[in-house]
Amino acid sequence: MLVDGEQVGSTLSERVRGADFGWLLGAALLYYLGARFGMLVFALQPGNITLLWLASGVGLVMAMRFSWRALPWIGLASLAANFPELIAVRGADQSWPWLAGLVSALADGVAPCLAASLLHWRLPDGLRVARDIGPFGLYACLIPSALGALAISSSLAGSALIDWSQVPELLRALTVADSLGILLVYPLYQCWQDEARPRARELVWMLFGLLLGLLLLERAFAGTGGLIHFLPAMLVLLVFRLSAAQVLLVLLGLMVALLALAARALGPFTIASLGESRFMLMAFAFSTSFIVLCLALHRRQLLEADQAREHWRHEALLDGLTGLANRRAFMTVCADEVQRAQHNGRPLVLALLDLDHFKSVNDRFGHPAGDEVLRETARLLRGTDLAARIGGEEFALLLPGQTLGEASSALERIRESVELLRPELDGQTLSLTVSIGVAEVRADRVATPEALFKLADQRLYMAKQAGRNRVCSGA
Ligand code: GH3
Ligand code: MG
Ligand code: MG
Repeated sequence: MLVDGEQVGSTLSERVRGADFGWLLGAALLYYLGARFGMLVFALQPGNITLLWLASGVGLVMAMRFSWRALPWIGLASLAANFPELIAVRGADQSWPWLAGLVSALADGVAPCLAASLLHWRLPDGLRVARDIGPFGLYACLIPSALGALAISSSLAGSALIDWSQVPELLRALTVADSLGILLVYPLYQCWQDEARPRARELVWMLFGLLLGLLLLERAFAGTGGLIHFLPAMLVLLVFRLSAAQVLLVLLGLMVALLALAARALGPFTIASLGESRFMLMAFAFSTSFIVLCLALHRRQLLEADQAREHWRHEALLDGLTGLANRRAFMTVCADEVQRAQHNGRPLVLALLDLDHFKSVNDRFGHPAGDEVLRETARLLRGTDLAARIGGEEFALLLPGQTLGEASSALERIRESVELLRPELDGQTLSLTVSIGVAEVRADRVATPEALFKLADQRLYMAKQAGRNRVCSGA
């Protein structure tokens, strides 16, 4: 049965809209759970300050996918998550502080949308390389989080729920908690989408890292506070074993554990004794040096690999003897130029050049002398548009934008200059000549690079047959 185009279009768009709705609903639920989880697990007593706001990371994922369309969903999820707290702090007149609640929900919605816009502007390809982490920290984490935190803390003070003197501390705490949530969630989401699923060996490493990290944390909170500083060093070791997404997942698990523990007992963050504080200092110095050393070596390795790749890419396209393009590079350029010429209706000429009786040059003066003659010939051709050495003593030229007539006179000049080269070998002057076959791409005929080569080769053969030292363009 045939269905008309409009009907197909509308059902398809409805289905897409349905998928978007489901996605946004699921993400908003996750946002709500992240926020509630944060209030429950990471609230630092006294003061009820939440150390980690994972919901802001979920909010950024939503905003990156749906732009400002995500705003109402995030706002509603935030309002739902904060509602019990707002009810709990009812004013003396028993009314709930609706203004502070609405401002918080709006700020929670606007901040990730703003972060997504800034991120699209500053990092259109997302977080890809280590260098991106600076702009990411500033535009995705710090600026939107600080603006959101400013709106929330001043609306709380404006509604007399906190004192104005508490605003700077709350501002700082909210900014860091939101930024941390974004830093832990968004890069993980992006890397997870880009990467293949982990293999069994990697899962073992992930589990091992997680368990070792938890053990370090447990020991650090049990009294050996300095051990906490070995956590980043251990994670750096994992960086070289696991993919980015896998290591970020372990990182998320360990940071959640660390902050949840810290919210219950101050652990290593209150230093009990002089000996302990000294160990902490040394552990910090070791761990920082270790991390910087790893990253510096890794960066150097990446730079060297980049340079080597660039070098070999260049080498692979050049002829080692003459420095002209080689056959492979020439064929690629030739195919592009043929396509462009046909597309634009502009002429294009291919010339094949073959040195005459070159074998006798080698026979009389030796191979090294022959090489020198090839280099001198290449120097003559280097000025022309696209010159390549495509075989032993064979060269090719591409002359875009020239008709057969124009190219023939240019090629005639090249033939003459080879004749005038008269290289000196072993004190003898060599008379060197070249034969040239020419073919043209014409706007009124479809041409392939292979057909063009074949025709130029036939004409080169004709030039040889006709006595060499001439240009044959078939005319
Ligand atoms: P024709 O006029 O018919 O083209 O004669 P020819 O001697 O130039 O033709 P032929 O193709 O038989 O010989 C080409 C010679 O080029 C053979 C080989 O000794 C020489 N040759 C090929 N590659 C190189 C190279 O890299 N260096 C040197 N010195 N000679 C080379
Ligand atoms: Mg030859
Ligand atoms: Mg030859």
